[in-house]
Amino acid sequence: MSSVEPIAVVGGGIGGLAAALALGRAGNAVNLYEQADAFSEAGAGIGLGPNAMRVLQAWGLGPSLQEAGCAPQRLIARHADNGRIVGQLPMGQSFITAYGAPYLTVHRADLQHTLLGAVSQQTSATLLTHHHLSGLVNDTHGFELQFKDKSNTYPAHILIGADGLHSAVRTTVFDKTPPNASGHWAYRALLPMHEVPQSFRQMDIGIWMGTRLHVVHYPVRGGEFLNLVVLIESPNQASQPGWDVLRSAAQITEDLKQATHNTYAELQDLIHAVNGWRAWCLFDREPLEHPSQMVKGSVALLGDAAHPMLPYLAQGAGMAIEDAACFAMHWKNASLSAEQRLLNYAQARWQRVSRVQQRARRNGQLFHADGLLRLARDTAMKLGGARWMDMPWLYGTSN
Ligand SMILES: Cc1cc2nc3c(=O)[nH]c(=O)nc-3n(C[C@H](O)[C@H](O)[C@H](O)COP(=O)(O)OP(=O)(O)OC[C@H]3O[C@@H](n4cnc5c(N)ncnc54)[C@H](O)[C@@H]3O)c2cc1C
Repeated sequence: MSSVEPIAVVGGGIGGLAAALALGRAGNAVNLYEQADAFSEAGAGIGLGPNAMRVLQAWGLGPSLQEAGCAPQRLIARHADNGRIVGQLPMGQSFITAYGAPYLTVHRADLQHTLLGAVSQQTSATLLTHHHLSGLVNDTHGFELQFKDKSNTYPAHILIGADGLHSAVRTTVFDKTPPNASGHWAYRALLPMHEVPQSFRQMDIGIWMGTRLHVVHYPVRGGEFLNLVVLIESPNQASQPGWDVLRSAAQITEDLKQATHNTYAELQDLIHAVNGWRAWCLFDREPLEHPSQMVKGSVALLGDAAHPMLPYLAQGAGMAIEDAACFAMHWKNASLSAEQRLLNYAQARWQRVSRVQQRARRNGQLFHADGLLRLARDTAMKLGGARWMDMPWLYGTSN
């Protein structure tokens, strides 16, 4: 397989853009197909662990992301019902010293803009918006990609499905099982910092753990905005895709009021300071069990298409970025067949992402714990201190 034949990447989210960038940097031609009319990301924040930041730094994106984001000094975990601090993890310089990169919190638009800017500078990348993959025909020469409302088909020899949670590539080539509706909901908002109650204007990440809910907040854009997410278990709430988009502002406010009315008054003040909430149903899949769930022949899955996870470890995008770097590294090995290179990518990735998927679920149980589990968690955090909260296995490596 010559490197001049474009690799087709379907999906231009963080994973697809990262894949186009990683492959482009290594001199590979890429056609990136995105269904939307423009590349865009939700108006929300995102946390990038040092594992993802090391990759982004290696791609030369460290300075612009650091300028656009924030490097929180600490992660502070509290009880949502009384505000008591349960544990603290120093971040800031301690993370740079330990892991060679900071933990950054950024506006998603800034991350997307940075990745898109870098991809656009590559002459080897062709970006095709308004291309919604609707079908895939496998022939002896490779594939013909079919796109909605396009009369011609597009040939491809190697295909990367980076088309997210409801991936068409996955459904067509791998399995049709829908993702698992967790019964958990994320309510997100970005507040101008001057509208935030004074005690929350900190360069820290805050996590407030309650019964069947938790709240996360952190600054983005150098402290111009506070990103706020309230995560709630509501297993009886209808969770079909699209429902969240239809939820009215009044309904969302009511959901939040009901779920948080027993929480600490200061936390409620922060929640009430928000006007514009948006709701997301949270989905995941069973943790990966085998590399064949990421690669079949000359088709690879990457990011949420391969391994969607609950956001309780803040690593979905981080894993997509790591996937991209790993794919490009294995693709370089031109002495191997294309299929073997793809398989090597899947073999290198599946166990790590599987562990992250499992740990994300586990964090949900711990953050939302009640009764004995809550007692055990609090005791472990007290005795283990920062060591219990740190994750060298995750932050210390990027593959
Ligand atoms: C509340 C919440 C908080 C989170 N916080 C964090 C965090 O702090 N840190 C972190 O690392 N991760 C976080 N995540 C996870 C992270 O957002 C995702 O894992 C990541 O965005 C996945 O990127 P992706 O590119 O794989 O998929 P997506 O972002 O879903 O991108 C898929 C792209 O494919 C396109 N597409 C879909 N279907 C087609 C088609 N048929 N044809 C063409 N294009 C198509 C879509 O338009 C989209 O642009 C969070 C998630 C949630 C819900």
